This record gives sequence, C-alpha cells and structure tokens, in this order.
Amino acid sequence: MIRLHDTLTREKREFVPQDPNRITMYVCGPTVYGRAHIGNARPAVVFDTLARLIRHEFGDDSLIYARNVTDVDDKIIAAAEAEGVDPSVITDRYERHYLEDMRALGVRDPDLAPHATQEIGSMTSMIERLMVLGNAYAAEGHVLFSVPSDPDYGVLSKRDRDAMIAGARVEVAPYKRDPADFVLWKPSPEGVIGWDSPWGRGRPGWHVECSAMIERHLGETIDIHGGGLDLIFPHHENEIAQSRCAHGGLPLARFWVHNGFVDMGAEKMSKSLGNIVTPAELLAQGHRGETLRLALLSAHYRQPLPWTEALVDQAKATLDRWYRVLLELRPFVGAGETDEVDWHALEALSDDLNTPAFLARLSAMSDHLWKLRNQYIHKQSDTVEFQGLADLRDTFLNTARMLGLLTENPEAWFRGEGSSDIDAKVKARTEAKKSRDFATADRIRDELKAEGIILEDGPGGTTWRRE
Ligand SMILES: [Zn+2]
Repeated sequence: MIRLHDTLTREKREFVPQDPNRITMYVCGPTVYGRAHIGNARPAVVFDTLARLIRHEFGDDSLIYARNVTDVDDKIIAAAEAEGVDPSVITDRYERHYLEDMRALGVRDPDLAPHATQEIGSMTSMIERLMVLGNAYAAEGHVLFSVPSDPDYGVLSKRDRDAMIAGARVEVAPYKRDPADFVLWKPSPEGVIGWDSPWGRGRPGWHVECSAMIERHLGETIDIHGGGLDLIFPHHENEIAQSRCAHGGLPLARFWVHNGFVDMGAEKMSKSLGNIVTPAELLAQGHRGETLRLALLSAHYRQPLPWTEALVDQAKATLDRWYRVLLELRPFVGAGETDEVDWHALEALSDDLNTPAFLARLSAMSDHLWKLRNQYIHKQSDTVEFQGLADLRDTFLNTARMLGLLTENPEAWFRGEGSSDIDAKVKARTEAKKSRDFATADRIRDELKAEGIILEDGPGGTTWRRE
C-alpha cells in the first residue's frame, strides 16, 4: 500500500488509483532556455522515484507519466534575441541538455513529453470554452481568466485574496477587470513567435499549457499532479481553476505532490539569485550521476535539502561502501535465486517516499552482508550458507536498483575517472604483445604502474585495478 501526502487536503492517505491499469501522473517540466541546476533536478529525481514505486506496486505498464516541455516563454524569446537565433535553436539545445543531465542522474524519460508549441490548438480550444462559460474574457489582444468567476479559487494555496495578489506580485494592467486575473493568451508583436487565434496573433500563457495538455493526453481528472513547492501558487492554483471550470467542477488531480527546495546556505537555489550549481558542472568535476542522485534522495522530498560539498562527499562514501561489499561478494554473482526487493525498504518508500529510511535500510543490509561474508570466508559460523548469502546479496542489489542506485558493476565504479584512457593503453599493450614488441608492452605496463594502475594478465585477457 502506497501512502502519499496530498497538498490539497494537507493529509497523508492511501493512494488508490482511479484505474490501476491506467494510472496517470503529470509533472510540470522544464522551461528550456538554460542549463538545469540541482534544484531543477530534484523534482525530476523525486517523481522518477515515485514512478518506479508505482510500477513496482501496480506493474510496469500501469503508469502513464507525462512531463511537459515549455518551449514558448518570454525567457526563451529573450535568450533567442540575445543570441540572434530562432527560439527553436535555444529550446532544442536546452531540451537536449536537460535530458542528458537527467539521464546521467538515473532519471528515466517520461512516457509522454508534450511540447507547448505542438499543442496550441488544445489551448485555444480550452480558452474558447472558458470564455463561453463566463470564466474568461478578451481585452486588448489578451484573454484573461476571471478569478472572481471561480468561487473556489485559492483552494490549493489556501491564501486569502489580498495575500494572493501580493504573493503573485501581479501586474496591474489596464486590460484586467480584476488585479488577480491571469493571462491565458497574449499578443505577439511582429517578429516574435506567435500563432493566429480568434483574438489575433499571439501566444499562450504558461498556466493554460499544463491544463490543456493534461486534458488532451491524460484526461479530465488525473491521479497525481506533481511539481516543486514554488509551483503551488500561482501556477497550480491557476491550473486547478482553469481545468475545474472547463470540466464542470471535476477535480484536476486526486493527489497533489510537491517537493521542497534545494537550499544554498540560507537561500533557495535559484537562477535569479545566481547561486546555482548544475549537474553538468558536478559531472565535469568527476562526480558520478549516482552520487548526485543519492545526495538528492538523502532528504525526504518534502523537506528542504541543503546542498553542500559534505553532502556530496557523504553520498560518494556511502556508494563506495556499498560497491566495496559487492566487489567482495563477487564469488556469489549469478548464484542468487531471488528477484525480491527488501520488504522493510519497500515499506519505507511506500510511506510517502521515505527515502532517508529506505537508504538507512540499504546501509544496514550492506553492513549485515559484510559481516556474513566475513563469517563465511573465515568459517566462523556454520549457519552462513553460500545460497543464503547469494540471495541476500541479490535482494540488496534489487532493492538499490529499484531506486536507480548500484547500477554499475563494482569494478567499473572503482576504476572511475580516466578509465577510458587506461583501457586504451591496456589495449595498446595487448596489441604490442601480439606483435611481439615486448619493449613497448613493458613500457606501457611501467607507465601505468607509475600511475598506480596494476595489470593482471589472465586467460580472458588483461584486467586492471588501482593500487
Ligand atoms: Zn504546470
């Protein structure tokens, strides 16, 4: 049984999908105009974890996970103008980088990745319906959602009207009937990306993008809607208002799941504050994607996560310890007969994604395996049997891999950085030996030895390890 905290009802309750064979989850994705930072990576990793858990519980084909790509936006237009290129050059580039960065963190691609620029018809259709229903109006080339037309507005953020207006720093504009009204459609001047519409050439507002794409791809009411805490207001509040009004009062989502911020010191990591660290930089420094993934999962998703060097070092040390145990358990590879995941770890994860408890359980399993392995090797106990140990090793590995951890083979993990150079030298030495050029072969071996690399010649070829 999975339990999830729902921001709308402010309670944790059992997750019972509408249809267990077609569970629907939508997460607000990136606006692609710059490189993602670690704060942007957190929701990708958190909802990847939730998707893995749902698939484990309900089956591989049970879930449709959609994450949109916002590829029309004022920031994109500004970036394109600054470079003197078409906006699609900017969005193609940064979407590609986003996917590379997230894959490096073990994030699987979502099932659907709708792009705003491909969905304009769904958006104008929803806007037209909202106008007919009296929830939206056109003024000076804009179309606005009329907040006073929705008596339930504010249900998610639970703010009163004045706080909402102040919190949103809403633009007071002459074409707005009420300062809280928000843009569904806005005009595009000549030379700026735009589409023809009943209200003139223009482009959609950000909020209507998600409502229209959810309706088109997933339906009127979805099981889970996710995103960062900063999206609750105004973005998700506005999505709720649009969708509920367009759908005769039907709820947009049955569970609203929000992750906390990544903090840098006392402040939230954010591009506008200029205090960002990107996965790309960290990977270029030699950190592995799994290390960053573990660091991101080390705090409960609803809590803030202070990002420090110590956090990354600790995640690396934990993975080194786990991989060391796997390395020492090499004789047991392939002998295990279980595809089970540890029950205690699964229970922790099912309790509103309690990843700290899940990871603590993995560490306890790793320590236990180490103890049993030593007892087995030194024959200190008659009760430790080969098969039992092999099965425990597999359960440990299955559990970690369920969360996208311990996916590398342990030898490769410890070889680490620069291993492709070393592989190339080992290959050159093998070639030299084949052509009986022993002087070159010995020189390469000595060079590698000076770098702390030990070669071992065996029947299957030459392997290497660090001293
Ligand atoms: Zn959204």
